[in-house]
Amino acid sequence: MIKPRSLPRPRKVNKVPFVELYAGRLQGVVSSKSDIKRVYVSYFEAGTGNFYCSTNNNRPCGGLRGSPCKHLQELLKEALLQFSAERIVNYMGLELDPAKVKGHYELLRAFKGGPHKVEAGMVFSRFLTYLNYVSLPATTAPIPEMTWFVR
Ligand SMILES: [Zn+2]
Repeated sequence: MIKPRSLPRPRKVNKVPFVELYAGRLQGVVSSKSDIKRVYVSYFEAGTGNFYCSTNNNRPCGGLRGSPCKHLQELLKEALLQFSAERIVNYMGLELDPAKVKGHYELLRAFKGGPHKVEAGMVFSRFLTYLNYVSLPATTAPIPEMTWFVR
């Protein structure tokens, strides 16, 4: 049985509602501080260390000026909490000793890439699918989409 990690503090789901390691990226969705209706889609790419941040409507983030914006930093903080430094370092192929990672700044410095645009929809559609499952009413009946969880 897989035991969930005990987290040093609860995840800030209202700030960073979605974070995942997927398709060679650390990616997720970060809420805007000034506009509750706006979200940012942010990612770091494994290997290249490239990153990007834009709104879910593909508007580039104003804070992204050659270096990771505050959304990318928030994403990294929450990823560190959710996945642990070891998993992130391994997945992203960072040249870093996970035992020496004290906070997200060490991870941030290890990403050597630059801003590189990807379509926000690629990440955002995964977030919507995830939301869909989260909002399903709790039930003990089988959910057809979940049949790949073989017993
Ligand atoms: Zn941003």
